[in-house]
Amino acid sequence: MSARVIDGKAVAAQVRAGIAQDVAAIKAAHGFVPGLAVVLVGEDPASKVYVKNKAQQTVEVGMNSWEHKLPAETDEATLLALVDKLNKDPACHGILVQLPLPKHINAEKVLNAIDPDKDVDGFHPVNVGRLWVGERALVPCTPTGSIILAKSVQPNLKGLNAVVIGRSNIVGKPVAALLLRENCTVTIAHSATKDLPSVVRGADLVIAAVGRPEFVRQDWIRDGAIVIDVGINRIQGADGKGRLVGDVAYDECAQKASAITPVPGGVGPMTIACLLKNTVEAARIQKNLPTV
Ligand code: NAP
Repeated sequence: MSARVIDGKAVAAQVRAGIAQDVAAIKAAHGFVPGLAVVLVGEDPASKVYVKNKAQQTVEVGMNSWEHKLPAETDEATLLALVDKLNKDPACHGILVQLPLPKHINAEKVLNAIDPDKDVDGFHPVNVGRLWVGERALVPCTPTGSIILAKSVQPNLKGLNAVVIGRSNIVGKPVAALLLRENCTVTIAHSATKDLPSVVRGADLVIAAVGRPEFVRQDWIRDGAIVIDVGINRIQGADGKGRLVGDVAYDECAQKASAITPVPGGVGPMTIACLLKNTVEAARIQKNLPTV
């Protein structure tokens, strides 16, 4: 079998097109435009690129975008004061503080200061709780994107055995909560899991979020499984050049899976699309409008 390649760029473009329509509908019906504020502290080159891309895509779907760039030496109190100001700004519906923050700032304290209804990263403990108890929540972006990709090949995930490899707060745990919501039978594997290959062999759906290059091998994959690879790892290729690979040995696992996400071009492009989706949902929550 040779797997269907799940095209994350194409699915992300569809998601963004839907958001643009929703933004236009909100403007027409309710007279406001959702807005996202992104806060960047310091000069981390990768973070600067992410923030630029986020701002550009926010504007492309018709939303307001604000970038707050603060110097690396900004103290915690100044950053908390900015978060407080954005919390109170009715035009700003989503707040994203780009991580990592400089070491002298307590990231947890800053993230927890964001109004949960504006927490478009979905990292606030209130949103984590809402997700697990099944209330309306802002859900972390990469997990949401992973589920959208799985559903792009199998719209109903009900009853599937899903194995999530990784239990981080950013990916593994929220993706497991979302799979439960989809009525999957969910196993969360981690570094202390016994005989991981045989656990993964039981999966109809594998979500790998380990942070280890090409960790998941062909003989772990059940024939016809769906494989979603969240990993992004930079390795040295045979030609001495750096290249990006996922947590799944793509070429070999594609021989067993029915569908698989590539790296790059799989889960990666979904993350910003889901951030934009969360900004619209945050605006809808704040204005007491239903989810679409
Ligand atoms: P993380 O916080 O480092 O968590 C990795 C998880 O993998 C941990 O739960 C760890 O288990 C588990 N693990 C490590 N070694 C293992 C092993 N040998 N066997 C089984 N489990 C093992 O990483 P993360 O933030 O979740 O990110 C995971 C990957 O996704 C990374 O490659 C990251 O770059 C990528 N990522 C991509 C996006 C995107 O936009 N596409 C977004 C976020 C992250 P323990 O808990 O037991 O230590």
